[in-house]
Amino acid sequence: MTARPAASPVGAPGLYHPRAYDIAAPPATWWAESAGPGPECAPLADAQHADVAILGGGITGLSAALHLARDHGLRPAVLEAAGIGWGASGRNGGFCVPGGAKRSLAAIARRFGAGDAARFDRLSHAAVDRVAGLLQSEAIAAEPQPGGEMLFAHSTAAFAAFRRARTGDQVVLDPATLAARGMKADGFHGALWEPAGFGLHPRNYVDGLALAAARHGARIFPHSPVIAWTREGGGHRFRTAGGVVTAPKVIIAAGAYQPEGLSPRLRGRVLPVQSNIIVTRPLTSGEQVAQGWTSTGVASDSYELLHYFRLLPGGRFLFGGRGGLSASPQAAQRFRARLTRDFHRLFPAWRQVEITHCWSGLVDLAADLVPHCAKLDDTTFHACAYHGSGVALGTELGAQLAALAATGTAPDLPGFMQRPAPHFPLPWLRKAYLAAALAGYALKDRLR
Ligand SMILES: Cc1cc2nc3c(=O)[nH]c(=O)nc-3n(C[C@H](O)[C@H](O)[C@H](O)COP(=O)(O)OP(=O)(O)OC[C@H]3O[C@@H](n4cnc5c(N)ncnc54)[C@H](O)[C@@H]3O)c2cc1C
Repeated sequence: MTARPAASPVGAPGLYHPRAYDIAAPPATWWAESAGPGPECAPLADAQHADVAILGGGITGLSAALHLARDHGLRPAVLEAAGIGWGASGRNGGFCVPGGAKRSLAAIARRFGAGDAARFDRLSHAAVDRVAGLLQSEAIAAEPQPGGEMLFAHSTAAFAAFRRARTGDQVVLDPATLAARGMKADGFHGALWEPAGFGLHPRNYVDGLALAAARHGARIFPHSPVIAWTREGGGHRFRTAGGVVTAPKVIIAAGAYQPEGLSPRLRGRVLPVQSNIIVTRPLTSGEQVAQGWTSTGVASDSYELLHYFRLLPGGRFLFGGRGGLSASPQAAQRFRARLTRDFHRLFPAWRQVEITHCWSGLVDLAADLVPHCAKLDDTTFHACAYHGSGVALGTELGAQLAALAATGTAPDLPGFMQRPAPHFPLPWLRKAYLAAALAGYALKDRLR
């Protein structure tokens, strides 16, 4: 009789193929291959006490630890199930841009009020500035590529919508101007340029956050999955296979990998959705000119099932897309083929260029399609649901979580974010909701 594998301590095992939750398998990303030396931290091996115990060693958890230690003089401890940044944080596209909701600002204003929409817009721009500030103040070498973000319109209707929705410093550009700027992709009708934002190396960024947090006094324990969470006196107790951390307060920073088996309080708060990336071999400058894409600005498009793309330092091209209902190896192959087809359609001059890397990970959606950063009770805090845009927002909400845990308030947060992420009704049906949403998005993309 073969032993059944133990359920993974991360995520909602059963929702996706076990491959999506395999903490023993670091994702084979270009970022891992090109990263600098990371922090050298050991797993938890004894009993420790912390001012704040943090579950999750991604951008949110590490930013919370850094800000708790540096700005509030507290001693946090971070427990990460796998290597630092194993979740979405070390495997994303490296777009440090404003955003984080699946609703537009206008839709946020309609649902939650104009004041909250304006507060969210300010917060998500401040988030980009916070990352830029941390790269400077903590000397994090994350290869920033400045230039804002270009949002390409896939249809005339989308282009007209950009013209109507343009705010602040945003600029609408026609295809000829885009080509002159070294951003020629086929089949687009123009673009909206958002000046805030830049590209970075996500693995180096998350390692840099960990090093900075440790330098300021945080303890970081990789390869230390929390397998039990109990209340003890007025405080909390996180148990791992190697030890225990007790703390009066805890932060749950688990993104799309919420350990739903740990507590009913974590169950069904996010809908994890796959995001997938391919990376090419380095393009020669002749190949870049042949396609008309020489810019290192970051870009995405207006499809509901959007693509995101950028030229990396050294000339490789990164191309990503969301979707896919299964994380099985066969489904991953099918998604790679689909992504490659889309890449060739938009960048036909690069049809013969080899793709050297392909990986995927999970992003988190909330039932109300907005991010959350809230108290679950007076001593438990969480932030999640960045809708695929958590490099800047996760950093910002880490700082806001630190303020919440240290002082009890975070006044910069819009009201809707200060409520915990709502539980999905009948959470075991989340894949069915996703299937319906994906079909709706695909139809909308064809019609618009
Ligand atoms: C392929 C891809 C591309 C993306 N591209 C971009 C992009 O270009 N720009 C952008 O802004 N955003 C992007 N995102 C989204 C962004 O990466 C995430 O929003 C962000 O990293 C979330 O950070 P986090 O710290 O909240 O969660 P994560 O980085 O997912 O970290 C959560 C951690 O919790 C840990 N954990 C779970 N359970 C336990 C447990 N029981 N014990 C201990 N630890 C546990 C997990 O191991 C995991 O490492 C992308 C995501 C993906 C997957």
